[in-house]
This record gives sequence, structure tokens and C-alpha cells, in this order.
Amino acid sequence: MYLKSLEISGFKSFAKKATLNFTSPISSIVGPNGSGKSNVAEAFRFVLGEQSIKSMRGKRGEDLIFNGGGDGARVNRAGVKVIFDNSKRMLNVDFDEVAIERVVHRDNSNEYFINGSPVRLRDIVELLAHAHIGASGHHIISQGEADRILNANIRERREMIEDALGLKIYQYKKAESQRKLEKTEENMKSVESLRREIAPHLKFLKKQVEKVEKVQQLREELRNLYKEYFKREETYLKDERKKIDNEKDPLVKELAQLDIEIAEARNILENSKNRDSKSDELINLEGSLYKIRIEKDSVMREVGKIEGEISSGNRTISKEKEKQARDEFKTIYLKDVEEIVNRVSLIDSLDEIRQILSRFISSHKNKEDSALIAEIEKEISELKNKKKDFENNLIRITDEEKARTLEYNELRQKIEREKDSNRDAEKNVFRIIARQNEVRGVLNGARTREEKLMFEEEAHKREMQEAYAIVGREALDNKDLILSDEPRPLQYDRLKNIEKIKVRIEDSGAGNSFDILKEYKEVEERDIFLAKEIQDLEVSKVNLNNMISDLDARIDIEFKEGILKINAQFQQYFSLMFGGGNAGLNVIREKKRLKKSDTDLSAVLADNVENIIENEGEEGIEINVSLPRKKVKGLMMLSGGERALTSIALLFAISQVNPQPFIILDETDAALDEANSRKYGDMIANLSQYSQLILITHNRETMSRAGVLYGVTMGGDGASKLLSIQFEEAVQVAK
Ligand code: ATP
Repeated sequence: MYLKSLEISGFKSFAKKATLNFTSPISSIVGPNGSGKSNVAEAFRFVLGEQSIKSMRGKRGEDLIFNGGGDGARVNRAGVKVIFDNSKRMLNVDFDEVAIERVVHRDNSNEYFINGSPVRLRDIVELLAHAHIGASGHHIISQGEADRILNANIRERREMIEDALGLKIYQYKKAESQRKLEKTEENMKSVESLRREIAPHLKFLKKQVEKVEKVQQLREELRNLYKEYFKREETYLKDERKKIDNEKDPLVKELAQLDIEIAEARNILENSKNRDSKSDELINLEGSLYKIRIEKDSVMREVGKIEGEISSGNRTISKEKEKQARDEFKTIYLKDVEEIVNRVSLIDSLDEIRQILSRFISSHKNKEDSALIAEIEKEISELKNKKKDFENNLIRITDEEKARTLEYNELRQKIEREKDSNRDAEKNVFRIIARQNEVRGVLNGARTREEKLMFEEEAHKREMQEAYAIVGREALDNKDLILSDEPRPLQYDRLKNIEKIKVRIEDSGAGNSFDILKEYKEVEERDIFLAKEIQDLEVSKVNLNNMISDLDARIDIEFKEGILKINAQFQQYFSLMFGGGNAGLNVIREKKRLKKSDTDLSAVLADNVENIIENEGEEGIEINVSLPRKKVKGLMMLSGGERALTSIALLFAISQVNPQPFIILDETDAALDEANSRKYGDMIANLSQYSQLILITHNRETMSRAGVLYGVTMGGDGASKLLSIQFEEAVQVAK
């Protein structure tokens, strides 16, 4: 037994909380008309998720809430809780007991709970579907609904049977798959249209990318050419620079030296202008020498004259001395004679006079006549003094002459020398100028080449900048490049080639390659993504189609198998009820156009299949019955009681083939007479082996089969009351 209890509070006529415990395979609910028994069946529908208020005899959610009555005050919420024993895991949750609860408020809002936790309606529907309990209520047969299956058309019947067979879950899955399939097809269409949308752009980008790739190839070629070109050019420029510098440097130095030399030579020449002043000096010196010499001559002559005079004086002295050497020629001064005479006059003795005279004579005898000589000697001495003066003068003059002569000679020599150096300087100036011209000529050659080199260096720099701009810094990265020598013109050819490639790159018209490649990559990735998406969608489409056909096949098989099983049970219950006869279900295909009215399909189908225009339609179920001992066939021919029995037989057959955990039958037995009620009671007893039964009934026979009986009464407050009762009470209550 799976159904444990039902709690009703505020639902319809159940103002206060009422609890029904289903401790027996068969429970009966009995009570007078209008006491609220059917409300219990509806409480089941409600808690299991029924969304049709109409099927619970209301218009709005509010109609389900106890609305007061008599002296009973209305309430604001209706709540129903059903508790299942889940120890066998009938429901797919890991609890031994599962309480499902639904509450509706006056604002029409609903709340759902599983074991007290708020959940969505969907959670409840899914949980119950798994246990073959559904809101569709095939296990809840409301009052007067027993022959609903007989009245339904073939398609509705099929649905009912599918539902009862537990195929709804497959139908649900199939519908879900079909929805998914539709969605998938929609997605495919939109993805395909997206792909179609980007296709022209992708094509355009691809062409651009091809161009870009071509340009990239050209760039690569250019980069390699540049590498070699720059390496060679750098080497060439460096060598040339070195060569020119080596050539220029000594020339520049020589020119500087020549400048010094020429300045010197010019200086010498400049200095030769002073020569005239030196000549004047020389002439002056000559003049003073001349004067000195004249003076010297005159002094010498004076000296000569004096010497002559001196020698003549000396000769005179000599002559005098010779004369005096002879006595007769002795000169006696008068004064000396007068002095002697004076001295002799005064003397008395002759002797003395003689003596005096003799002494006189002897003194004069040996005496030289010195006066003249002295005079001459005095003259000579004076001459000598004079000569001495002249001689001193001569010495001075001679010294001066000597000095002047030396000076003169030096000056002369200097002048001579200067003349020589001027000549040399002049020669030098010519030589230097000639050399300068020569050196300048060579240097100019070197400078011309240097200018050309500078031009080449500039061009090289520009080329490097351009290379950097076109192919990036890699073009300049040539450090590791090793090259063998080659003739220079090959480098010019290389440059020509470079220029050609540059023009080709420029003419290619490829835009910003980075952006194009990026965009192409993005669009391509998107296209690949979309293609993959289409592929995936195709796969899921195939999968869904497979799943649908699998489900179809499964439904078909299980349905047909189910029909066979139902037919066996139907036949059994039917013959039990009617004491024979035949009953069975037939799977038929509905004909689309009908000759007769197509509103009452079941009647038409049951009546005369031949009257239908052949046209394939939906598959459905027809019910064939033939009562024992009666010629007439078909549902239309049955009496009310027969109809009720047939429906019950079919319902029980269906229920038994795929037993539901519980079945609620609301006065299904109302139309049965006593004999049939017993048969009905037997069937119930049989059925309760497969499903728990809750029977709302007035039927004594039915009540007698129940293990648990509940009586429902309604008091003055308009609210239903529930009480557990015994069979005898039940019979009373039912009355
Ligand atoms: P019968 O034996 O005639 O089939 P029953 O016992 O099945 O009767 P129900 O149909 O379950 O009776 O109950 C109907 C009663 O419930 C009516 O009296 C009706 O007024 C009452 N009822 C229905 N909805 C509400 C509501 N929202 N508030 C109060 N009473 C309600």
C-alpha cells in the first residue's frame, strides 16, 4: 500500500482540518447527498496538480476555498496534503515517506511543497508521472464519469488508454522531443541564414587574405633582400669611409704643414722689406769708417811729423854733443863769468884767484853745453808728449775703426745672408703653392668621393627607415649574416629588385594586413562555429528523430501489447458481469471525411464503418461488445445499467493491466442493481489486489468490501465533518 493519508483543510466544504488514513486496501467514504464526499475525490485531484478548476466543479481558484456557510466563517486558503509510503521508492526521491502539498489562496496564487519544501508544479507532476500517478486523473473516476470512455471519440479513448497504460510519459517525452526538434530546425534555419549572411563577407575577406598572403610572401622576399642589401651596404660604406679617411688624413695634415711653411716663407719675404734700412746702415757705417780713416791718417801724419821733429831734435842734440866734446867749442854763460869775476875781485890772494879760476875752468871743462841740448830735449819731450796724445788718439781711432769695420762686415754678411734666405723663401713659396695645388687637387678628388659617399650614407639611412616601415625591424637584423665578396654592381641590381618588390607591394592594394587577418580569422572561426553548430544541430535532429521514432515504436508496441492485455481482462470482466458475451478493443485508423455527421465520431465508428469515405486519419480505439443471447451489437444498443457495467469492466480491465498505486471511484456503482452490485463487489475485491481503492458510495455491498469506512456529514455551519465509522454506522450514514 502506497497511499497513507490525506489531510484537507479549508478545501471546499472542509472548513477545518480533516484527515483520512488509508490503512486498508479498500476504504469507503459514505454520507448523505451534499455532505462533501465528492469534495474528497476533488481534494485528490487538487493535490496531485490538477489545473482545470472546472474538473473540480469551480470557475476560479477561489471557488476551491471554503467560502463559509450557515454560521461557518469563510477561510482564506485551501490546503490539501497527501502522504505516500515511499519505502519501496515508488517515487523517485530518497525519502521513506513523501508528503505532497498544495495550497491555493484567494488571490488565485498556488503553492506546492514536497516534504515541506516549496517546489514548482512541474516538480510534482514529474515526480508523480514517474509513479504512474497523474493529474490527468485516469485513476480518479468522478461521479457520473464512469462511461466517459464509452462516450469519448476514438482519439480520446486512445489517449485515455495510453495514459492508463503509463505511456503518457513517452508521449510527454515525444512531445518534448518534437518541441526540441522544432526548436532545432528553427535554430538550424537561423544558423544557416547567419552562415549565408556572412558568406559573401567571408569570401571577400578570403580574397583579401590571399592578397595579404601574397604581400606577406613579397615582404618575406623583401626582408631577405634587405638583410643582404644592408649588410653589404654597411660594409661598403664603412670601407669607403675608411679609404677616403685614409687618403684624406695625410693630405689634410700635409696641407696644414704647407700652410705653416708658406707662412714662414712669406714671413721671410715680408722681413726682406727691412733690407733697405740695413743698406742705409751699411752706407752710414761706410761713411763713419771713411771719416775715421781720414782722422787716422791725419793723426798718423801728425805722429810722423812729431817723430820727424823728434829725430831732428835728437840729431841736433847729437851734433851739439859732438861739438861740446871738442873744448874749444865750450859755451860759458856770461852770468857764470860775471859770477866768477865777482868772486875773484873780492879775493886778496892770487893763489886763491888761481884756485878759483882753476876750479872754474875744470868745472867747465868737463861740463857739456847743456842749455841748447836741454832746450832741444825739452822740445823733444814736449813733442813726445804731444806724440803720446796723438798716439792715444790713434789707438782710440784704430779701435773705433776696428769696431766699425767689424760692424760693417757683420752687417754686410747679414745682408748677404738675408739675400740668400729670401731667394730660398721665394723658391719655397713657389714650391709650396705648387704642392698645395697638387695636394688640393687630390684632396678635392677625395672630397668629391666623400660627398658621394655621404649621399650614399643618407640614401642608406632613408632606405633603412623605409625598410623598417614596410617589413619591420627584422629587415635590419643582419648581424649573423655571412657574405662572400661580390662586384659592386650586383648591389645596384639588388636595389633595383628591392624597388620592384616595393612597387608590387604598394600596387597590391592589400589594406592593413593585421586587421584583415584578424577579421578573417574571426569571421572564419564564426563560420566554422556555425558550420559545427549546423552539424551539431543535424546530429541532434537525427537523434531527436531517432528518439521520436523509438518512442513511437515503443508507444506503438506497448500500446498494442497493452490493448491485447486489456482485451483479455475486458473479456473476462465482461463475461463475469454479463454471464458471457464478447467485448474487445480494436485499434483503427480514423477516416477523415465522413458521410454522416462527423461530430459524433464514436457513434459513427461504432455504427457503420462502411459509411466512411476512405481517407487515412489518426489512429484510435473502437470498442466492440456483444451481449449474450442478444442479436444487437454495439455500445449504442446498451441499457443504462449495461452501459455502466461495460464501462466498469473496461475500467477495471485497464486498471489491472497497468495497476496504479490507488484508484478513486466516486459512485461508479450508482446504477447497479443488487445482483450486479455483488458482481461489482467481487471485481473490486479482485482489483484491490493490484491498487489501493477509495470508494465513494451509497452501495451497501460496496461498503461491505471496505476495510476502512469514513462517514462525511454536514453540519449547520455548512462544513463537512469526517468520522471513522463501522459498517453498521456506515449503512446508517449512507441513508
Ligand atoms: P452527493 O452524494 O449528492 O453526490 P456529495 O456528498 O458528493 O453529494 P459534494 O458534491 O461533495 O457532496 O458536496 C457538495 C457540497 O459542498 C455542497 O453542499 C456545496 O455547497 C459544498 N461546497 C462546495 N464548494 C464549497 C465551498 N467553496 N465552500 C463551502 N461549501 C462548498
